[in-house]
Amino acid sequence: MKNEPERISRVVPEHIVYWHDCNPDEYPGGPFTTDPKDFLFVVAGMDEAEQRVAADPFVQEKLLKNIKEALEKMKKLSSIWITVCCFLLFAHTALAENGLTRISPHVYSYIGVQEASPANSFGANAGIIIGKKGIVVVDTLISAKEANRFLQDIRKISDKPILYVIDTHYHLDHSFGNSEFSKLGAAIVAHKYCADEMHLKAADGLANAADFGLTPEEMAGTEIAYPDITFTDRIGLNPGGVEVNLIYIAPSHSKGSILIQVPSEKVVFTGDILFTDFHPYMGDGDIKGWQQALDFLATLEADKIIPGHGPLSSKKDVADMKSYITTFDNKARELTSKPDANLEEIVNEMKKVLPIKTQGEWLIGANIQAKYLKKNLKKKTKKKNDYSIEKP
Ligand SMILES: [Zn+2]
Repeated sequence: MKNEPERISRVVPEHIVYWHDCNPDEYPGGPFTTDPKDFLFVVAGMDEAEQRVAADPFVQEKLLKNIKEALEKMKKLSSIWITVCCFLLFAHTALAENGLTRISPHVYSYIGVQEASPANSFGANAGIIIGKKGIVVVDTLISAKEANRFLQDIRKISDKPILYVIDTHYHLDHSFGNSEFSKLGAAIVAHKYCADEMHLKAADGLANAADFGLTPEEMAGTEIAYPDITFTDRIGLNPGGVEVNLIYIAPSHSKGSILIQVPSEKVVFTGDILFTDFHPYMGDGDIKGWQQALDFLATLEADKIIPGHGPLSSKKDVADMKSYITTFDNKARELTSKPDANLEEIVNEMKKVLPIKTQGEWLIGANIQAKYLKKNLKKKTKKKNDYSIEKP
C-alpha cells in the first residue's frame, strides 16, 4: 500500500516525523538515506547542525535499525492491538485529509477541500514551502480563526520560523488571515497591484464580511495586514535550499494575481488564476490577461499544480480553465447584450454551455452580476447564507 510508510511513522513518532516513498534525488542536499525498499526518510524540523549529524551513515544506520525494530514489534502485536492500531491509523488518515497534504519534499498544501463555505475559506488551497532556514506561507485563508487553524496544521509538520507570507491576490479568502502571520514576524509579499487593491478594498470587505456569509464569531480578531514587500514583474525568495519564484504575467483573476513556482520540485501554486472542478469567481477578471497568464502557466515545467480552489491539477486543467473563461465571456456578452436580459434565464443558458463542476455553481450568477450586468450589489438586500457575491 503506497501510503503505509507514512502511516506507520505516525505510531513511531519518537524516530521520524514522516516518511515518503520517493527517489532521494527529489530531496537534494537533504538528510536522507535509503533502505532496501528504496524508502526515503527525512527528519523534519532539523537545523543545519542536526542535519550534519543525521547525514552521518552511523546515525542513519541506527535510525533505520530502530524503525525496522519498531515495524517488527508491530507485526507481533496481538489482534486486539492491531484492531486498535487500525482504528488509530484510520483516525490519523481522516485527520490528514483535513490538514495539509504533502505535495513534494518541501511543499505542503490544503488541496481539494470539499463542501466549500465561508467558514472554511471557500475551500481555498493555502500552502507552505519549507526551507532549511524557515517557512514560506502561500495565502492565509479568510480570517484570524482560519489562519490559526492553518498555523496549527503547519506546526504538525515543522517548527521552523515563518519567514514570508505570499498573497497570491487580495481576495478575502486568500489574505484576511495575514495578521496572524505578521504577529509571528513574517514579512508579507505581494504584487504591487495586489497591495493597491488591498488598500482600496480590504477594509471595506472586512466591515461587510456578513455580505460574504461570514458571522461575527467567524471573523473575531481578524485585522487587515497589508503587504510589506511588493514587486512588479518577478521576485525570488529562498528560505534555504529551495527557490521560490513569484511571477506576474498580466491582470487576470484580479489585477494583482500572481503565480508561485517552486522549480526544483516542479510545483506551482496558481492562486485563483486556476480553479479546478470549481466554477471560478470572475467578477474582477481581465479575460485577455487571464488567457495570457494561463498560456504562460502551460509553458512552465510543472508536474503538480495547486489551484486556488479544487484538487491537485495538471496542464489539462489549465487548458480547460482557459476554455471555460473564454466560453463564459463569449456567452455572457451575448446574453447580457439583450435589452430584456433576466439573470435567472441567463444563468440557465450559461449552464448549457459551461462544463459541469462539483463546486461553486452559485458563482455563475455572481459573475454575471458582478462583471456583465454591473449591478450595484451592495445596495441589494442579502439573505443569510446567500453567497452570491463572495469572492473565492
Ligand atoms: Zn479564492
